[in-house]
Amino acid sequence: MNLKNVLNNLIEIRINKILEKQISRIKRSIPEMKKSIKDLEKKLSKISTVKKDERKPKKKSINKSVRKAKCKAKKTCSMKGCNKPMKAKGLCNAHYVAAFRKNKKS
Ligand SMILES: [Zn+2]
Repeated sequence: MNLKNVLNNLIEIRINKILEKQISRIKRSIPEMKKSIKDLEKKLSKISTVKKDERKPKKKSINKSVRKAKCKAKKTCSMKGCNKPMKAKGLCNAHYVAAFRKNKKS
C-alpha cells in the first residue's frame, strides 16, 4: 500500500512538473504569437486596402473611357462631311436608307 502510494505520488509529481513546464512554455509563447498575428493582420489589411484602392476604380474607369472612345470612333457615318451616329454598314440612318433606295432602283 505505502510503496504503491509513494510511487503514484512520485509519478503524479513528475507528470505535474512536466505539464507545468510545457504549459509555462506555451503561456510564454502566446503573447509572441499574438504579436506576430497582429503584425500579420496589419500587413494584410494594408495590402488589401491598397490593392482595393488601386485596382478597382482605375481599371474600370480606364476600360470605360477606352470603350467610349472606341464606340465614338466607330459609330459615326462614313460619308464625307456627315458626323451622324452610325446605324448600319458604316452609314448613318439617312445615308443608309438613301443607299438602300439607290440599290433597289438600280
Ligand atoms: Zn451619314
